[in-house]
Amino acid sequence: MKTVRDLKVKGQVVFVRCDFNVPLKEGEIRDDNRIVAALPTIKDLMEKGAKVVLMSHLGKIDHKDPEKCEQDKKKNNMAVVAKRLSELLGQKILFCPATRGEELKKAIYSLQDGSVMLMQNTRYEKGESKNDPELSKEWASYADAFVMDAFGSAHRAHASTYGIPEILKSEGKQTAIGYLVEKEVNALKKVVDVEKEARPYVAILGGFKVSDKIKVIERLMEKCDKILIGGAMAYTFNKALGHNIGTSPFEEDQLEFAKNCYERAQGRIVLPVDCVVADDFDNPTQIKVTENCDIPEGFMGMDVGPKTRELYVKEIKKAKTLFWNGPVGVFEKEQFTEGTITVCKACAELENVFTCIGGGDSAAAVKQFGYSDAFSHISTGGGASLEMIENDGHLPGIDVIGD
Ligand code: ADP
Ligand code: MG
Repeated sequence: MKTVRDLKVKGQVVFVRCDFNVPLKEGEIRDDNRIVAALPTIKDLMEKGAKVVLMSHLGKIDHKDPEKCEQDKKKNNMAVVAKRLSELLGQKILFCPATRGEELKKAIYSLQDGSVMLMQNTRYEKGESKNDPELSKEWASYADAFVMDAFGSAHRAHASTYGIPEILKSEGKQTAIGYLVEKEVNALKKVVDVEKEARPYVAILGGFKVSDKIKVIERLMEKCDKILIGGAMAYTFNKALGHNIGTSPFEEDQLEFAKNCYERAQGRIVLPVDCVVADDFDNPTQIKVTENCDIPEGFMGMDVGPKTRELYVKEIKKAKTLFWNGPVGVFEKEQFTEGTITVCKACAELENVFTCIGGGDSAAAVKQFGYSDAFSHISTGGGASLEMIENDGHLPGIDVIGD
């Protein structure tokens, strides 16, 4: 695959799709990992004398409700990223508040060789998420070359991840992957196709997003020897199997699927057998541990219980390859960290095992508990890493770059 290393782009306008979708808290960047991870590609293009135009989405923008749209735009203004990026690069970079039209065009054409500009949030444009051909065409018209370095967005065929490179390639212009995507692809290969010698292959799935991830389980069942399910997804499974889940969140329309999936897995899906539960999510006043996987009325599951932790450890110990996406409990709250810490510890004790984490919150959890160095690879993309496994190593935003 062509990488940024191979590009000859002196004096050319190079669009770089980055993943600057950083977590924000009260307008401040909570974790700048994703910005730091983009630096090698940016620095290389600066040294090559390109005119570097960076683009990324940040958060979600609701284009249906005009009032909400304005609020979302205010909240997800990319200017904070430009500021942080300037600090990290040790030089001021240009920020262009426009995402289309004359203002953007002028900003791009005024760039000097070796200088960097960041464009406002791509999702300010309604057409971005729809891969709108007109939008892609306009963006592509300003670019001489394109570099894909947003691994976390490579599973989405949007205008900035798919539309632009598709057009540029058809015009015979250079397209390539960046250093971050190259590193991710090389690491994730090891959890996509797992040879006999590298088995058992154990996957741990947790987190909050159920509907996003539940479909992936079907494909993971073909690839993994064991799937340990924790986090919010576990309640949809346990409810589907006839257990009480109290006030825990679950997906009504996935119950049939969950039941069916569990039965077909024939013991390869491991569900929580006990839970740490609380009476309220935001202000828990009563916390208890259940005897089994039934949760009493008025309580919700917040973490896996001690018997489940033991079960997890037993399975993790057998692994030769391991993939983990999603914390198994609400690890941000001190009372519900135990499950996720247990998984961290068990993984850290493995020797000669390829251990890979995918997911922003999972990565944050591992960092918070001091286990970052214990894993072979921590991916910057949650959804993207899961889909890459699901699709046998293919992602639209990477495939479109070509050889
Ligand atoms: P990732 O970013 O690693 O892919 P997700 O975004 O899917 O993971 O989910 C992370 C969130 O899941 C965390 O904020 C965590 O608090 C939440 N979570 C984990 N377990 C539960 C649970 N039992 N109930 C509700 N939320 C949970
Ligand atoms: Mg997340």
